[in-house]
Amino acid sequence: MRDRWDDASSFDGPFEECVYGSRLIGAEPYLTLHGGGNTSVKLPGVDSVGDPLDVLHVKGSGFDLATITPEGFVPLDLARAARLAELDSLADAAMMNALSCLRLDASAPSPSVETILHAVIPRRAVQHTHADAVLALTDTDEGESIARQVFGPHVLFLDYVMPGFPLAKACSELLTKELTPETVGIVLGRHGIFTFADDTRTAYKAMIQLVTAAEEHLTSRRGLRADSAPPPTDRTLLAGLRRDLSEAAGRPLVTRRCDDAAALRLARHPRRADIARRGPATPDHVIRTKRVPLVGLDVAGYAEEYKRSFAEEQARCDVPLVMLDPSPRVVLDPSVGVVVAGRTPRETAITVDIYAHTAAVIEDAEDVGGYRPIDAHDCFDMEYWELEQAKLVREGIPPPHAGEVALVTGAASGIGRAVATRLLAEGAAVVGLDLSEGVQQLATGPAYVGVPGDVRDPAALGRTLDTAARLFGGIDILVLAAGIFGGVERVEDISPSTWERTFSVNVDGVVRTMQAAYPLLRLSPRGGRVVVIGSKNVRAPGRGAGAYSASKAALNQVARVAALEWADDGIRVNSVHPDGVFDTGLWSDELVAERAASYEMSVEDYKARNLLKTSVTSDDVAAVVTALCGPGFSKVTGAHVPVDGGNERVI
Ligand code: ZN
Repeated sequence: MRDRWDDASSFDGPFEECVYGSRLIGAEPYLTLHGGGNTSVKLPGVDSVGDPLDVLHVKGSGFDLATITPEGFVPLDLARAARLAELDSLADAAMMNALSCLRLDASAPSPSVETILHAVIPRRAVQHTHADAVLALTDTDEGESIARQVFGPHVLFLDYVMPGFPLAKACSELLTKELTPETVGIVLGRHGIFTFADDTRTAYKAMIQLVTAAEEHLTSRRGLRADSAPPPTDRTLLAGLRRDLSEAAGRPLVTRRCDDAAALRLARHPRRADIARRGPATPDHVIRTKRVPLVGLDVAGYAEEYKRSFAEEQARCDVPLVMLDPSPRVVLDPSVGVVVAGRTPRETAITVDIYAHTAAVIEDAEDVGGYRPIDAHDCFDMEYWELEQAKLVREGIPPPHAGEVALVTGAASGIGRAVATRLLAEGAAVVGLDLSEGVQQLATGPAYVGVPGDVRDPAALGRTLDTAARLFGGIDILVLAAGIFGGVERVEDISPSTWERTFSVNVDGVVRTMQAAYPLLRLSPRGGRVVVIGSKNVRAPGRGAGAYSASKAALNQVARVAALEWADDGIRVNSVHPDGVFDTGLWSDELVAERAASYEMSVEDYKARNLLKTSVTSDDVAAVVTALCGPGFSKVTGAHVPVDGGNERVI
């Protein structure tokens, strides 16, 4: 385990040192992943009337150690927080309320659910992680004896206890009985590790040293690890799986393939149905992965089994619980490799990381005696933890395209770019395709990917659709915005090259994209949607725009036939016909001047020549496109919507 502490760094005080040390353990994925782990420091302070009091600064709930800043910590009354451990029992919601009332700053975030544990550790600086190596050693039947052998006498051991108040109470009792001046940490079986000292640097160094000892023990017993490459991308298989997962969840889910070697070895392991279905490596992963993955492709069977076990577990609880959707979050099968599912691309990106680490922990634990994580009852208690259930109630209405995937051609600029941006804002995952390399820079984050390529090139289309299938699981929405104007030429002057180029992009390219995307669109959970960006020129052509007007008219006819034919598959095909969208790349200043001249108008009059005397922007067009793909238009196909501010010739 790499020691990341920079001994040249200096701090204004112990609090700043704690923030620095927190970010160091957050930066190491083998210690903490996506919001896991927590830290604290105890410092003298004053209350609101100036009386001295000891203050616990503990990580706020929901903050990620990797990026935490001073605002992510909560200052609270240490003595009173520690006294809570003296109660015989404390329900989670009551505990969170009690802790929130102890804050010394009303605007501070909610404190970590492990706050009482931090409070009862009689050392100034505390760090807690779910280090992979500690999990691999303690997710085993012999975990306690292995831990005592590897970590030595200055580390205490506590077998699994439910996080929150029960864990804080158990640790408090353990510390009362066994703490010595030499004690540097507590290993929590099947959960993680705490280290503590009088300063964060020493607590951090203890964390690194103990986790390194665990890693060395594992390395010395590690069996052969063969490389494992992902299976070839079978787009329709992935899209079919996503449709089944979405159906079981009752809402569209996105999926993402996990190409990690350890996860793939698990997916191909002859005993995968046993080994992979024993439970999560550490309890808080259950929220992301569910207790067990689906091994095989029978999603409906998994959902039935989930409902059955929920009913059984619910019977032993005294409060009614809201069942989470019964769809699996991780699927293992040699045909697809490892596929994870989630409500958003962010969720699936996180679950991919978590499952890659889980698979590595499982392999190591198998090599040191057999993987035995927390049991099904303990796992259920975590999955249906009161605090997690409360989050469900607070969950608002998802954005209209949450869990959906869109392919937008011509996404690097103009209308395509505006559509892609709007779909992202409305919750969709977006794949942008464009000749321009700039398509890769449209957006950052797990919901967007840009692929440079030509819509007329079958290889580029194949690459784009493979990317959509691997990263998101398919395509629900296809927006065909790639197009060119070609040039102003009277019919008798249209050059063969203008004619061919205009038709090859505006017609051939669009038809090829529709053909390639069709097998995925028909597997869309809510039914596929296609929006063709046409032109006012279909109904009302202009002088000098022969090739352009003819190409858009041909495309219009293809869209109408597709609406007829693809209705059988539940795919809706609609067109929008913009005019005078002057903020797109199509309209250079010269072209505007030329077009104005051809209508014998000034540039100014030409730009506002519509009935509403308004200017139409790319985003105005994008708003109509995304609405056509949304629930409000779910019964509409074959429609042609002008977005032109009103045009007498069209009307
Ligand atoms: Zn923990």
